[in-house]
Amino acid sequence: MADLKVDLTAPNGKKITLPTGLFINNEFVKSSSGTKITSINPTNEQEICSVEAASAEDIDKAVAAARAALNHESWRDISATERGALMFKLADLIEQESDILATIETWDNGKPFADSQGDVGEVISTIRYYGGYADKIHGETIPTTSQKFVYTLKQPIGVCGQIIPWNYPLSMAAWKLGPALACGNTVVLKPAEQTPLSILYFASVVVKAGFPAGVVNITNGYGKEAGHALASHLDVDKIAFTGSTATGKQIMKTASINMKNITLETGGKSPLLVFEDADIEQAAKWAHIGIMSNQGQICTATSRILVQDTIYDKFVNEFREAVKTTSKVGDPFAEGTFQGPQVTKAQYDRILSFVESGKSEGATLTAGGIPCPLNGKGFFIEPTIFTKVKNNMKIYREEVFGPFVVIVPFKTEGEAIAMANDTTYGLGAAVFSQNLELSHRVAARIEAGMVWINSSNDSDIRVPFGGVKQSGIGRELGEAGLAAYTQTKAIHVNIGQKL
Ligand code: NAD
Repeated sequence: MADLKVDLTAPNGKKITLPTGLFINNEFVKSSSGTKITSINPTNEQEICSVEAASAEDIDKAVAAARAALNHESWRDISATERGALMFKLADLIEQESDILATIETWDNGKPFADSQGDVGEVISTIRYYGGYADKIHGETIPTTSQKFVYTLKQPIGVCGQIIPWNYPLSMAAWKLGPALACGNTVVLKPAEQTPLSILYFASVVVKAGFPAGVVNITNGYGKEAGHALASHLDVDKIAFTGSTATGKQIMKTASINMKNITLETGGKSPLLVFEDADIEQAAKWAHIGIMSNQGQICTATSRILVQDTIYDKFVNEFREAVKTTSKVGDPFAEGTFQGPQVTKAQYDRILSFVESGKSEGATLTAGGIPCPLNGKGFFIEPTIFTKVKNNMKIYREEVFGPFVVIVPFKTEGEAIAMANDTTYGLGAAVFSQNLELSHRVAARIEAGMVWINSSNDSDIRVPFGGVKQSGIGRELGEAGLAAYTQTKAIHVNIGQKL
């Protein structure tokens, strides 16, 4: 145990003692294979530290711990109110540690410090929101005949495997842990290998909050090993996944081995429609937030902007102005930075390859599209705008996952809807218009799990979040998020029927 932590000094001067083990049964332990993940600071490309990475054998141990906890009276039999109280305690402790958690997040992921503080705030709210639900989850009685009494129980699904991405490491963990714990499940959570650090500090807070051993297990590891071991495990009852559509499809196949319950939240190429009667300045500002915040690494990023032809030039100018005045790229710990580095070299290379693709297919690079390193280092890319984009181009069809947008004109409402829906994805969408009838009519016809009218990406933890088509299955957040973590059992009671 002694060597399973490291003393670090963050770029903002904060001293942090970080556990580096796999978190199983409320203890930090070594990986059985000796495999490690080395975390790189995307701002200066230097190593931060190495942490243990789970093998299939370690996943076995974590699943066994979660199974034992599920069946142990300390979790199975505590009242739902006590379960909620544990979650409130956890939220309070996270609040006390929020500066350290936000520091680790920015260091490891590259997002601006104010954004990390916002993410930690969301973690606290999410845990509290679902903690409040813990003792308000109940079944119903169903009238049938006078000789029968029927009631239903809402029971936990069981051992839940949760596989999360690197774009919001702590928030994604909270979105999944909150409802799972409120409903009485136990969890093995596998963070993304690109951002393994903040969740380890979070794990130490779980112990302090007093959760029984094995209720929450956190196993850093690589997707193809640890992730696959979890998705294919015969003693795991559910997999909840957020990440790419390709991996989501793979996980769906793998999870079929024992017909696991699944929730998937995958990719998007979300449209943002601007009609000619819109408040163009507001539309441009929201459109900027919708694609450029979090370095463009948002699954619901409104990455295809469709603008009515009569206002197209005016909108493009306003949008460029919003980028120029707001998108300050630089040190994520510096005050006023809007955009930090991309999370990894791989993502940085991928985005630049989309820039090349756009140019070679004949689109016009209107702004950005080039690296902008800090002191010669870091995975920074200037906010990128392409115009003169055709609907068969790769940059119009594929998710880039960076500060990268295409702006395309449309003529009529019908054409706008057809263009919005011309994608295999269906996660988010935004509509800008001051016409009430038009905006609600269009919102109803867009194939997406979420539509914002006159805003973009101002999601809320109290509101269901998820996609249609190849953007996912099921919903997270809001009351709807509880459905993913409960199953309904029907109890039939004979009160007089004689044979
Ligand atoms: P990914 O889907 O490969 O990884 C997401 C998570 O799945 C990680 O924890 C990873 O370890 C795990 N994983 C990978 N392969 C697995 C497997 N075979 N079995 C089980 N788990 C597995 O995403 P990525 O490689 O980090 O990013 C690639 C692209 O995914 C991005 O460019 C972006 O388009 C998209 N992405 C989307 C989201 C989102 O929120 N929708 C988040 C991150 C990435």
